[in-house]
Amino acid sequence: MLGKIKISVIGGGHVGESTTFILAIKELADEVVMVDIVENLPQGKALDMMQAGPILGYDTKIIGTNDMADIKDSDIVIMTAGFPRKPGMSREDLIGQNTPIMKDVAAKIKKYAPESIVIVVSNPLDAMTYMCKKITGFPDNRIIGQAGVLDSTRFMAFLGMESGVSIKNIQGITLGSHGDDMVPLPRFSLIGGRPTGEVVEKGKLDGIIERTKKGGGEIVKLMGTSAYWAPAAGTVMMAESIVRDKKMILPCHVILHGEYGIEGLFVGVPVKLGRSGVEEIVEFDLTEEEKAALKKSADHVKEVCEIVDKLK
Ligand code: NAD
Repeated sequence: MLGKIKISVIGGGHVGESTTFILAIKELADEVVMVDIVENLPQGKALDMMQAGPILGYDTKIIGTNDMADIKDSDIVIMTAGFPRKPGMSREDLIGQNTPIMKDVAAKIKKYAPESIVIVVSNPLDAMTYMCKKITGFPDNRIIGQAGVLDSTRFMAFLGMESGVSIKNIQGITLGSHGDDMVPLPRFSLIGGRPTGEVVEKGKLDGIIERTKKGGGEIVKLMGTSAYWAPAAGTVMMAESIVRDKKMILPCHVILHGEYGIEGLFVGVPVKLGRSGVEEIVEFDLTEEEKAALKKSADHVKEVCEIVDKLK
């Protein structure tokens, strides 16, 4: 990844356009290509974002297109195409609609950007990441799902709201699948350097953990569709660690081969992200209870992947 950096964003809806905008503001790429199937829409949105450049001071070239061939030779491809949840829906309810989209897009990523690192955002996240790996056949280090960064930032935001401490002083992490059985880890989370349990009393902490697990649904209920600013910010943070070789340790959905006792499934775990994508899977020393929660979460991912496998 030397020379000019090209990042493509598939899908120019809520998540795709906010991701593109944050990528541009941070000047993470020389060129950002945003692809959508709706005629003229990505072109219009790209032009609008280009026109914000002189005010906001970025010179990233933003291209909107309906042609997947325009992602040619991208360094990173971010997959956001697909239907979001409506109130009352689970992420798994999107399987039937989003699996064919994932299959189609993944085949084109393989064709046009065979050396890219792919960040998958479309839901149901763990199963769509698995499908992307299956279709592209890309190596494990180049297929990464985004959701752990989002779930963790939700956890941190709630800890900040409850404790009255700046989020700049808060660290928090959730592991597991991107669903209601995700595993927030208060034991590995800090408020101003102190374990969360010392700052927030147990009843309130339990409430925050529950709210984090259902954080996506809370927003769907309020807005009638999925969140996009925090998901986009999380996705860009991952892209930044890759493009700038920052080696951030972030919770990402990667395929495991025995780590945490899990085999052949994409599950959210802490990973080191650098120029070559996933550079290390970090194994936390979990308690039996935490391990059991992660295993339960992984079992659920397995069930969803089996359903996806059976779809035509
Ligand atoms: P949206 O409806 O606003 O946008 C989706 C876009 O995808 C639409 O513009 C649509 O035209 C486009 N699209 C459909 N098929 C396409 C194809 N083959 N090629 C290119 N574009 C195509 O939805 P959204 O709010 O942006 O959400 C997108 C996806 O991201 C959903 O599946 C949602 O559930 C998921 N999501 C994931 C997370 C996460 O943390 N992983 C968070 C929020 C949303």
